[in-house]
Amino acid sequence: MHQRSAHRSLLVVGSVAFDDIDGPFGLHKDLLGGSASFISRAAAYFTNKVSVVAVVGEDFPQKYVDEMTAQGIDCSGIERVKGETFHWVGKYAPDLSTRETLDTRLGVFADFQPKLHDAHRDAQLVLLGNIDPGLQLDVLRQVRAPALVATDTMNLWINIKRPELEKVLAKTHTIMLNDEEARLFAGEHNLRRAAAAILKAGPTSVIIKRGDAGALLFHGGGVFAAPAMPLADVKDPTGAGDSFAGGLLGYLAYAGDMSPSTIRTAMIMGSVMGSFAVEQFSVGGIVGLTTAKIQQRFDELSELAHFERVRL
Ligand code: AMP
Repeated sequence: MHQRSAHRSLLVVGSVAFDDIDGPFGLHKDLLGGSASFISRAAAYFTNKVSVVAVVGEDFPQKYVDEMTAQGIDCSGIERVKGETFHWVGKYAPDLSTRETLDTRLGVFADFQPKLHDAHRDAQLVLLGNIDPGLQLDVLRQVRAPALVATDTMNLWINIKRPELEKVLAKTHTIMLNDEEARLFAGEHNLRRAAAAILKAGPTSVIIKRGDAGALLFHGGGVFAAPAMPLADVKDPTGAGDSFAGGLLGYLAYAGDMSPSTIRTAMIMGSVMGSFAVEQFSVGGIVGLTTAKIQQRFDELSELAHFERVRL
């Protein structure tokens, strides 16, 4: 891949968490999770200029931070404070297609005030992972002139922090949400119309993630569809959206430009990283990958979606 200096810097802000996941494969407790955990690990395969801003409690094992550092991720923005690490409890339907949040214990997130180091303020790409939009706004007030601000969110914040979320959207270039959240935000079932309504809130593009139906990118008048890899073994969809975001932004940092064709490729890299994430619990699917494995799945997706134009 390119030399380090060619990469753009990517600042990731999000949750670092413990997850309890219930579903068809039983209950798994105290798994490493959180939006920033998945995003940064997925992005780090493409660029070694990934920095994380997050908070953990005293109960958070240092080995997880050390593993991220070993992957080349700058963890100097991960604050460790007194209290318990954020804990999320989710339950998946037997077919894994939907999930509900059973519990959210904010712990150290309750008093978190992100403070960016000087170097982090100059980040060229900023990825606001799914956290309280009030915290996302705090970060946006501190960054200087990012070329791209991409924001992820979830139904909770659409329901309880809509005014703050709208302020974030006004400063966001690319908003990422899943189909259910897009419909909720827009009050519109049709995804094309929902995307148009979301774009009116400020972003120049919206990415709607649709689980195993792939992801749609709406921008200007155009739309691009990234397929999802049909997989034989899916264990845990947690972190798929975050790993998608990490692959997408990581690739944009690596490529160094944001031409329409680069953005399309980045969408596919997102799909590739999301597909690895769901094959294992926690971050298991996105650790220990190689460039060759990522390349192989990228090629498989390219093959899967390829078709010739014909003239009828
Ligand atoms: P995803 O499956 O990509 O949507 O992301 C799942 C991750 O989001 C889990 O690992 C959770 O720890 C994290 N998460 C869930 N709810 C919240 C929340 N309210 N704030 C921050 N992170 C959350």
